[in-house]
Amino acid sequence: LHNLAQDEEHIFRSRFAPVTVPDDITLPEFVLQNAELYANKVAFVEAVTGKEVTYSDVVRDTRRFSKALRSLGVRKGHVIIVVLPNVAEYAIVALGIMTAGGVFSGANPAAHASEIKKQVEAAEAKLIVTNGSNYEKVKGLGLPVIILDEEHIEGSMNWNKLLEAADKAGTSFFNEDVQQTDLCALPFSSGTTGLSKGVMLTHRNLVANLCSTLFSVTPEMVGQVTTLGLIPFFHIYGITGICCATLRNKGKVVVMGRFELRTFLNALITQEVTFAPIVPPIILQLVKNPVVEEFDLTKLKLLAIMSAAAPLAPELLTAFENKFPGVQVQEAYGLTEHSCITLTLGDLEDGSRIAKKNSVGFILPNLEVKFIDPETGRSLPKNTPGEICVRSQCVMQGYYNNKEETARTIDKKGWLHTGDIGIIDDQDNVFIVDRIKELIKYKGFQVAPAEIEAILLTHPSIEDAAVVPLPDEEAGEIPAASVVMSQGAKESEEDIKNYIASNVAHYKKVRVVHFVETIPKSPSGKIMRRLIKEKMVEKMRAK
Ligand code: AMP
Repeated sequence: LHNLAQDEEHIFRSRFAPVTVPDDITLPEFVLQNAELYANKVAFVEAVTGKEVTYSDVVRDTRRFSKALRSLGVRKGHVIIVVLPNVAEYAIVALGIMTAGGVFSGANPAAHASEIKKQVEAAEAKLIVTNGSNYEKVKGLGLPVIILDEEHIEGSMNWNKLLEAADKAGTSFFNEDVQQTDLCALPFSSGTTGLSKGVMLTHRNLVANLCSTLFSVTPEMVGQVTTLGLIPFFHIYGITGICCATLRNKGKVVVMGRFELRTFLNALITQEVTFAPIVPPIILQLVKNPVVEEFDLTKLKLLAIMSAAAPLAPELLTAFENKFPGVQVQEAYGLTEHSCITLTLGDLEDGSRIAKKNSVGFILPNLEVKFIDPETGRSLPKNTPGEICVRSQCVMQGYYNNKEETARTIDKKGWLHTGDIGIIDDQDNVFIVDRIKELIKYKGFQVAPAEIEAILLTHPSIEDAAVVPLPDEEAGEIPAASVVMSQGAKESEEDIKNYIASNVAHYKKVRVVHFVETIPKSPSGKIMRRLIKEKMVEKMRAK
């Protein structure tokens, strides 16, 4: 009891007033509320092709796609994997799935076929939505496939034809069985340890996260924002933080399928982007790449960028501010397991309430946060670094089919343990100071060490292996492997890199390989990652 009383002492809440979360509405209904008032306004425009989708298109096609899915037999709780780059129709696909009662599970289109297969199996998916160029990766999985762009691909269904057929079908688009407490999304994340797992998010989780994130939006701001849609939409930050938040506010999303600096700068200028959520490696390009000098930056309409997904180095932040005066830098911190954003800048209307430089911001309304000693579990007072734990309506329901990892991540009192070390100061600014979970973040993309280790161990000459993050200026972190080779093995470090590269998406490639005698492990058999990382850094410095 004594411990419990102490534990409750250091719970921090938002400095902003709580916001009301409507509890009777699904995510698609919430984001498309009042969309008819903006019928002709462009909701999504592709930066490269100029293809546009208006608000009336979004409403109509979300319903048509829901109807089509229901006619195909999709029922509440059925998981549908979406393997698409960022395209103008992406949000329609996701919202259509959710309207039908299905569960949207985005996959990285850069993924290797074997990685998509793993996600399909882990999610027990019923259907796949993709485009022509990714069809090869999914065609052998034994599931029905819907193709968004190409007309005739043997063995698949075409998006346009399905929507046209839906117009004639008797089925309703509306699934009255769907409640706000039902699952609607299953993004994949490795969490604090192990392999990638399905993160179970409900309509309520995501509606609550949007209500908290958008707390400072005033009626005058509705319809005004033009957001850059470059962060991948398969990631929760892309689909909710960008697509759903912009739809809710009746803004416009400028969609980019991949990053290329000239196209990016051109899109910012010609599409008059006002808000650009990006990741630190892109900020680095904006600061360092000479291509930027080809553009007249006075033409930018950019008011703010948001940096999230990985730490932003203080020097980089300063360099950006010097090069782009007048563009506000908002840092945000979040994680898939918390439906996206958790901490952010604050109330933009009131400059006095903007978080300190280099902080990831304030606690969002409706959230409770504590910082615990990872060893004892005790909550800590202000100005003391500890593992960030969050409790709110945004906390995931758990990992799909994985009670053990769920119990390890969400404790009995509902606290989500993030695996990140943070600190809160006297003015409520939160700073991220370290990450204690296994996760590696390459340019903001998740790389699960356990997954790469498992692949390394399938190599006939590898006896043991450990994968850890090494700091890297361009990518933030790079995956690096310590490998124990069997006696007499002939392979070089380069051969091991190539072996991994042929089995994974490009961002998961192992970029440094060191041959070692043994992998240090704790008495309980846990890989001592910190030690390995320190040794690798030391060895590289010595070179
Ligand atoms: P994901 O689930 O892919 O969004 O990854 C979430 C993880 O990314 C967090 O638990 C952090 O480790 C890291 N992360 C996200 N935002 C930030 C940030 N602003 N600063 C530092 N790390 C971050």
